[in-house]
Amino acid sequence: MKRNWEALVLRAMGGRTFRLTVRGTESVGGRYQRLHLDDGGLLAECGVHPTMWIRLWFDDDGRPHQRAYTLVDPDPAAGRFSLEFALHDGCAARWASAARVGDTIDATVQGSAFRLPDPAPRHLYLVGDAASLPAVNSLLDAAPDLPATVWVEYAHDDEKALPPRARPCHEVVWVPRRDGGRHLVDTVRTALPGAADAHYWVACEAASTRDITRHLRRTLGVGRHQLTALAYWSAR
Ligand SMILES: Cc1cc2nc3c(=O)[nH]c(=O)nc-3n(C[C@H](O)[C@H](O)[C@H](O)COP(=O)(O)OP(=O)(O)OC[C@H]3O[C@@H](n4cnc5c(N)ncnc54)[C@H](O)[C@@H]3O)c2cc1C
Repeated sequence: MKRNWEALVLRAMGGRTFRLTVRGTESVGGRYQRLHLDDGGLLAECGVHPTMWIRLWFDDDGRPHQRAYTLVDPDPAAGRFSLEFALHDGCAARWASAARVGDTIDATVQGSAFRLPDPAPRHLYLVGDAASLPAVNSLLDAAPDLPATVWVEYAHDDEKALPPRARPCHEVVWVPRRDGGRHLVDTVRTALPGAADAHYWVACEAASTRDITRHLRRTLGVGRHQLTALAYWSAR
């Protein structure tokens, strides 16, 4: 597939590109498409960390279209992982819905880096939605004994078909998407405590992520090192 200046910049920044092959497809509750993939050597070369994401290159009417997706259950020994696509009207989501066994797609690894803080915080506060639930789940898997409170915004009831991988020490609060995300922001702002021994992880729609981050930093005085925040998509 044709590449653009973005690909050149990523390569100059050390990005490595691999060809993935679809080995299985699965609909999850109608609002997610899970694809099982052979990794083309990606995991052996790049390693794995919680919330790890890759840049997939889709074809949008002949133009390259790059979007980020999170590795699910990466298995370096087998050279396999899955991806879970929340479905909406977008090029990436459409590709995932139509993907068949044997289809291929290129993935660049550049920019993903996350480590659970060391020493471990006493509590994790996670704010996500359908797009970041795979990343939330990788965090819960990586910290099964760490108390966590998780807010998950959902736009459709069927999105709950992808369950949070919560253990008894994890509290999950489902929040319906209302008023363009305002309801999530208000819910989280009301409930979030500012604690020096906590880590905060925020990954939802761009405006919501910005508002929640601002509240954490300015109102609650949360330190930069205590906060991981990244917009996962933009409402347009
Ligand atoms: C680090 C990172 C990891 C991510 N991991 C995942 C993942 O594992 N699974 C996953 O599903 N998504 C994930 N995302 C989000 C995904 O990259 C975006 O949703 C992306 O915009 C989808 O591209 P698209 O081509 O389908 O739609 P776009 O061309 O980007 O947008 C088309 C239309 O769809 C709307 N739209 C886009 N995304 C969403 C959404 N999530 N919900 C509702 N409407 C939307 C846009 O507002 C626009 O109107 C991740 C994002 C980041 C930054």
